[in-house]
Amino acid sequence: MPAIRGVVCTFCGCTCDDLEVSVEGNQVKAVKYACAIGMEKMSKCVEERDPRILVRSNGQLREAGLEEALDRAAEILANSKYPLLYGWSNTSCEAIKVGIELAEELGGVIDNTSCVCHGPGIEAAQEVGIVEGTLGQARHRADLIVYWGCNPLQAHMRHLARYTVMSSGLFRAGRKDRKLVVVDVRKTSTAKLANMFLQVKPGMDYELIQAIRMAIQDEEIEADEVAGVPVEQIEELADLMVSCEFGFLFFGLGLTQPSAKNENIAAAISLIQDLNLKTKWLLLPMRGHHNVTGANKVTLWETGYPFAVDFSHGYPRYNPGETSSVDLLTRREVDAALIVASDPVAHMPAQTAKAFTEIPMVVVDPLMTASALLADVRMPAAFVGVETEGTIYRMDGVPLRAKKLVEPPEGILPDKVILARLLERVRKLRRR
Ligand code: SF4
Repeated sequence: MPAIRGVVCTFCGCTCDDLEVSVEGNQVKAVKYACAIGMEKMSKCVEERDPRILVRSNGQLREAGLEEALDRAAEILANSKYPLLYGWSNTSCEAIKVGIELAEELGGVIDNTSCVCHGPGIEAAQEVGIVEGTLGQARHRADLIVYWGCNPLQAHMRHLARYTVMSSGLFRAGRKDRKLVVVDVRKTSTAKLANMFLQVKPGMDYELIQAIRMAIQDEEIEADEVAGVPVEQIEELADLMVSCEFGFLFFGLGLTQPSAKNENIAAAISLIQDLNLKTKWLLLPMRGHHNVTGANKVTLWETGYPFAVDFSHGYPRYNPGETSSVDLLTRREVDAALIVASDPVAHMPAQTAKAFTEIPMVVVDPLMTASALLADVRMPAAFVGVETEGTIYRMDGVPLRAKKLVEPPEGILPDKVILARLLERVRKLRRR
């Protein structure tokens, strides 16, 4: 059987769409062109799935049928006064759309994982605007790449080879035509490849960005160093940034998650705006999960807001800090949770995650996660991009179609189908 071409990898936010996958006897036999992580995901994920549908009774999880699990899940959610519907970054836009309908029906909150990753960047863009571009622009045009607070060689392994420094585009032949700058708190593997590395003191990115902005304006910095970086190096970087033809800044959680959060990103956006008065510059966040960008897009076009959307007043409201999942859980304000394609128990701060042990929880996920083990109902779903197709958004907002490569095991449904059935049941219960 010929290999399936143009397969989209559904692991990280690069969503590489050039994979070739060979399938024999309903099994993925070979994956070409993916990085090591993508290869593992696309060829081995189905082996890691636990196919059991589980319902908790008398404190213990026991196996159940899908109808019983759906009935119990619908009962939990319909009886809740203020449920949280969380996750969504590892599933398709079609499933997210159903999730939003369900949140509206329940008068609950729908939030996605950007709440704990690039949410501050979204808030900053709402404050000061944004100068975003696509990965295609980086590949074809950028002659100076800056990675700030991220280490793509480990987290987005093909980013350099496919979209930036090592890639060969229409107007840039490859590494010899491009310069690489890395700003980070430690010398990462990506930093070892850089033409220039700036080691910033932890939590002082904001100060460094403002110093670079001063240097770009030819203002004198009356200090020997800022944020641990010598002023000569800051001035050297400013010269490099102003003299390039097309610059691209990529930022990661190292910039969004220190205490200054959205102020860091607002400063980075302002830096790019300053640079655009002199030459051409764009910036992009390095989004982690394969469809976290889609989770923001679908939530935005359906409700007007990108994450942390509250339907408790009968219309969508958005106020991160008040309606965001970490804050709601920390204040113990929600009384039930539906977790889809995410594992907040493993990834949220411990005191926040503990809230999930105090409320009934339904989990829909292909994997047996830490959250699933604590759930009252656990329903396994098909893997998007392997066992079911779906729309996903690359980190730069380009939509792609993830393909179905193999049939899921009997009884394992796509999460959009599970959620649609759940919605139907919830509607019936609430209209009684
Ligand atoms: S870089 Fe990311 S999307 Fe591309 S193959 Fe690797 S894991 Fe998959």
